Amino acid sequence: MTISGFKIIECPYCTKQYKSRLIGSFGTYGAELYSDGYISSCFIPESLDIIKCYNDACGNFFRGKEAKVVAELDRDDFNNPLWKDTIYLGGYQINAIELEEALEQAFCKTKDEEIIIRTMLLHRYNDLVRYDRSLDFSSYEEEKSLTNIGRLLALLTIDEENINRMLLRAELFREKGDFDYCIQTLQGLKTDSAFILKRIQKIYSQAKIKDSKVANLNEAAIKKEYQCDQCKKSIIVFDLDKLNSPYAYQYYRCVQENKVFTAPSKHKNPKKSYQLNFWQKLLHIKKPYENFILRKNVPCNHCNSPETELFTPSKQKCIECKSGSYTPVKWFDVELKDIIS
Ligand SMILES: [Zn+2]
Ligand SMILES: [Zn+2]
Ligand SMILES: [Zn+2]
Repeated sequence: MTISGFKIIECPYCTKQYKSRLIGSFGTYGAELYSDGYISSCFIPESLDIIKCYNDACGNFFRGKEAKVVAELDRDDFNNPLWKDTIYLGGYQINAIELEEALEQAFCKTKDEEIIIRTMLLHRYNDLVRYDRSLDFSSYEEEKSLTNIGRLLALLTIDEENINRMLLRAELFREKGDFDYCIQTLQGLKTDSAFILKRIQKIYSQAKIKDSKVANLNEAAIKKEYQCDQCKKSIIVFDLDKLNSPYAYQYYRCVQENKVFTAPSKHKNPKKSYQLNFWQKLLHIKKPYENFILRKNVPCNHCNSPETELFTPSKQKCIECKSGSYTPVKWFDVELKDIIS
C-alpha cells in the first residue's frame, strides 16, 4: 500500500476535524486472505467506511468517504502546523461494540448499507478467533455473532450471478453450523479466478470436517491419495494439518463397517474454564485455558458403533487387505468437480 497524501475531514454533526490518509495504490501480494472475505487491514482500509466521532458531546457515526474535505495535504506535509494536533485516523478500525451501536441507531438507510456494515461486523466478531484458532467465542459473543449472521443471510438473497454473494452465503451457513446448506450453496458455482477457487476450496473443506471458525485461505486444503503397496487399493483423505481445525479433527475407522470418517479428537474441557473477555482476546493479553481434552471412544458418525480406531494411513496397515502398507502417491487440491459431485 502506498500513501499519496492526507486529507482533513470534518464530522458532519459537530465539525470536529480528522486527518486521514489518501491511498495511492494497494496490492494483495503477501496479504492474509480469509474465508469470510476479510483481507488483512494494513493492505485494504475498509475501516473508513464508517467512523464514530471522538467528540464525547457528539459521538455520531458518519461515513469517511462522504465527510466534507477541508484540506488536502501532500505526502510530506503530515506535520503541517495547521493540523498538527488533529486526530490522525491512520489504520482506524471501528469495533464491534460501535458497529452494533450504529445499527441500533438506524445508521443504515438502505439494504446495501446494512449489508456493508453487517459484513464489517462479521469481520470484527471473527477477529476474536481469526489469529488464534484455539480461542472461542464467549456465549455472549456467539449469540451476537449468530444474530448478525442470521440478519446477513436474510439480506443477502440468493443471486447465482453474484459469486461473491453466494460465497459469503456459503461461509455464513458454515459459520452458523449448517454445513449441508454450506456445501449445497457451493455446488454449481463456476469461476475462472484462482482466488475465488481458493476460497471455494477452503470453505468446502472446512465444512466437510464440520469446522465453523473463520479460516485462513493461505493454509491450503490439500487432499492426499495413499495407495496400498500390495492390493493397490487407494484411499483419499484431507491433509488435516492443513485444515487447521480447532477441535483437531482426525480420521477414524469404524471396525464394523470398515469405513473411514472424520471426527473431532478433542472436546471442550468442562473443568477449570474461564471466559476471556473481548479485549483479552483481541489484544492477546491473557492466554486461554486448556480448552480441549482428548476424546475417548469416538463413536462412528454413521452407524454409531463405539468400535472405532484412529486411522493414520502413513502409520498403519491397509484396511482392505490388512497386510500392505500405505504410501502417499498424490497430493492435490479439492477441485470444483469434487464439490459438485
Ligand atoms: Zn461529531
Ligand atoms: Zn491393501
Ligand atoms: Zn460405522
